[in-house]
Amino acid sequence: MKFSPYYDQEEFQEYKYYDQPTLRLLDWCFERQGQRRSSWDPEHVRARLRQLLLRQIEIDLADLVLNLAIRRAHSSNGEERFELSLDIGGLVESRATLIVPSDRRPNAPVFICLHGHQHEGRRWTVEEGPAAALARAGYVCLAPDVLGLGESRGTTDNVIRGGITYDLLVHDALLLGWSLNGLRLWVLERWMQKLRQSDRLSEKVGRFACAGFSLGGELALYLSALHTEIAPVYVSHYACPWEASYWSKLHCRCAYVPGMMRLTNLTGIYKLIAPRALAVEVSRKDRSFPWKDTEQLLREVSAHYGLVSATERFNQVVNEGDHTFRCDPQTLAFLAQTCEVAGG
Ligand SMILES: [Zn+2]
Repeated sequence: MKFSPYYDQEEFQEYKYYDQPTLRLLDWCFERQGQRRSSWDPEHVRARLRQLLLRQIEIDLADLVLNLAIRRAHSSNGEERFELSLDIGGLVESRATLIVPSDRRPNAPVFICLHGHQHEGRRWTVEEGPAAALARAGYVCLAPDVLGLGESRGTTDNVIRGGITYDLLVHDALLLGWSLNGLRLWVLERWMQKLRQSDRLSEKVGRFACAGFSLGGELALYLSALHTEIAPVYVSHYACPWEASYWSKLHCRCAYVPGMMRLTNLTGIYKLIAPRALAVEVSRKDRSFPWKDTEQLLREVSAHYGLVSATERFNQVVNEGDHTFRCDPQTLAFLAQTCEVAGG
């Protein structure tokens, strides 16, 4: 029974006493489903993943006109910064910062840098998060707000109203047959597409890499699983199997993609990244993600990289901290090395 190790946690008490029989029914169904899961075929899983995440959204939003605008361009402290806005049909404005360091690494990819959801969006990403660390190391970075958080959610929400509308985003998306993370991915794909088409910016981008923290790490995995040209991939604090996190613990609902666990598990998503270069950072005391399960996933991913003869393209860093982004020097060295191998 998967639930038992987490019963002692305070947040789980209500679950335990409220409706354990129904949970047992779901668990039974999930285990049966797991036994039926077909043999591993990456192209099949990738195609089904795309379908689950994006198909309905692509159909529904196909007619929307998208406009990329440069709101502001400025240079300071040895870097160029472009404040960008992607208008989506006049309904949503997604904002992003493109950072071009003057000591840009030759031939290195542009990192799409994605924040987690306890932070303030791209501002955190460019000041303390993945984009800050990677730009300092000489990488061009595109740091967008993850839809529904940061500036993309609009300026009128106060904290309480913001919380309620965030839940509504999740519920309403599910009612439409979408998922919030699917919608976020759709927006990220539009960013990639519009940047490549931009007269002024296309020369600054080229091939893409992806980095993300927590929720951003999850999105980085999906985006990179679907786009096999994205490399390297850098995932910070998102490596715990869903069985031990979403399936067994109370978690933010925005991660739910209907049917996902019928298709594959998180290890399966990681396997879709191989044999591309993959850097993973995790913490042993991450409260949201039980360590023994995270450790198991890392073992499986590492074994898979061995199986596809790409052991040297998988790098993991484990630290003693909690659920906090820390860019480890070993990760940066690994990324630099893989970019040199890939780009010369
Ligand atoms: Zn969430």
